[in-house]
Amino acid sequence: MSSFKRGTWTNWAGNQSSRPQWINEPASESDVADIVARAAKSNRTVKAVGAGHSFTSTALTSGHLINMGHLNKIVHVDREKNQVTVEAGIHISELNEQLFELGYAMPNLGDIAYQTISGAISTSTHGTGSRLTGIAGQVAGLRLVKGHGEVIDINDQQNSELLDVARVGVGALGIVTQVTLNVVPAFRLRAVEGAQKLDALIENLDELVDSNEHFEFFWIPHTRWALTKRNNRTTDPVHIPSRAKQWYSKTFLENYAFGTVCALGRIKPSLIPRLATALPSSGQTEIVDESFRIFASERIVKFVEMEYAIPRQYCGEALQRIRSMVDAKGHLISFPVEVRFTAKDDIALSTASGRDSAYIAVHMYKGMAYEPYFRDVADIMSDYEGRPHWGKMHFLNDNELSKLYPRWNEFIAARETLDPHRTFANAYTEQVFGK
Ligand SMILES: Cc1cc2nc3c(=O)[nH]c(=O)nc-3n(C[C@H](O)[C@H](O)[C@H](O)COP(=O)(O)OP(=O)(O)OC[C@H]3O[C@@H](n4cnc5c(N)ncnc54)[C@H](O)[C@@H]3O)c2cc1C
Repeated sequence: MSSFKRGTWTNWAGNQSSRPQWINEPASESDVADIVARAAKSNRTVKAVGAGHSFTSTALTSGHLINMGHLNKIVHVDREKNQVTVEAGIHISELNEQLFELGYAMPNLGDIAYQTISGAISTSTHGTGSRLTGIAGQVAGLRLVKGHGEVIDINDQQNSELLDVARVGVGALGIVTQVTLNVVPAFRLRAVEGAQKLDALIENLDELVDSNEHFEFFWIPHTRWALTKRNNRTTDPVHIPSRAKQWYSKTFLENYAFGTVCALGRIKPSLIPRLATALPSSGQTEIVDESFRIFASERIVKFVEMEYAIPRQYCGEALQRIRSMVDAKGHLISFPVEVRFTAKDDIALSTASGRDSAYIAVHMYKGMAYEPYFRDVADIMSDYEGRPHWGKMHFLNDNELSKLYPRWNEFIAARETLDPHRTFANAYTEQVFGK
């Protein structure tokens, strides 16, 4: 979660902070509209923050910071359309529990649930599943406060031409106050986790990705091993071999044991390749649980991350190139490289816009130099027209990004209409969209 200390706002990872001039916690949509209208009149800027789980400077502001925390309720359930309308500041973890009470679930989620729904869609947050889109693809409509404080509905009936741009707005189009989600009946997943040799995995990649509803893997740098996760729907009853074992695999292995390896690696980087060999064979589990409990887990170890979406067919090749580059350059990496997949969608700035995608994410333990490794990976990703995650570290500017998105101009035109005086600008929007 993000934090405030003496007027300074800091993100979860602790790598971004700013001192907003005003911090507002609106209790209603009209409060939000009022703040925006007043700020616009006096040429001040406004930024909404969610849970501060972005690694980029996307949520920073020196103007008005709007904390959406009080706007966290379900406002409408449409059982005919299987749609649920929620206030924008609801955390996905709260939403999951409330949907479950209603007999519903989100069809796919990322690997944590700390984010707010508006923060998650704004940066094109995604999980894994080759026949499923990212979270913004589950959005049927939203309400948005524009740059002068006017509120509009965007859905297939009203302002429908804006739906494909506003679902991933990167905080640059307005303040989202409500989101209507397409939901599915609650379901369970069987999660099978185990180790596999990377070469064999890459050889069989299409089969693994297509024969599992949610397939992902983590390659452990300096080893030939990957940890795989296969989550598939089941009607079997909840089955968790033992709470202790689950805690061991989900919390101890994914956080404490792993954190120890990272911490040792930070003190003595030359130990990293040897420490890495301790990780791969661990974590053999099979459990059945409600979908949202399988998708998301706790993250205690702090890190910074960069993630690129590339056309799915290049995934194996790109990964092998990262592997060779890590060896050739002598990077010492204690964090696994995470690989996921989603179906294409038609949202202008979704990282999977128009193409079935593989996501390759690299991490660096908090406090260690990340830039040389991230830049080398980014160079490889650029050969595949890689699109960086809007909420994760990257080095691209508007000129470079505009070439990666066929519908870029639609977004830029919508920004002109919705926020002509740049009430929602910050240094990040200038970097990625220009002034
Ligand atoms: C430990 C960890 C795990 C993660 N796992 C995943 C993952 O599995 N998949 C993935 O794709 N990403 C993942 N991320 C990235 C994360 O999902 C995104 O960065 C997401 O945007 C964070 O949501 P938030 O609520 O914290 O938003 P913030 O980071 O607070 O804000 C993100 C952006 O949304 C804007 N925004 C927020 N609320 C509003 C609003 N109401 N109206 C308009 N704009 C708004 C902000 O201004 C900012 O531009 C992870 C990040 C961390 C730290």
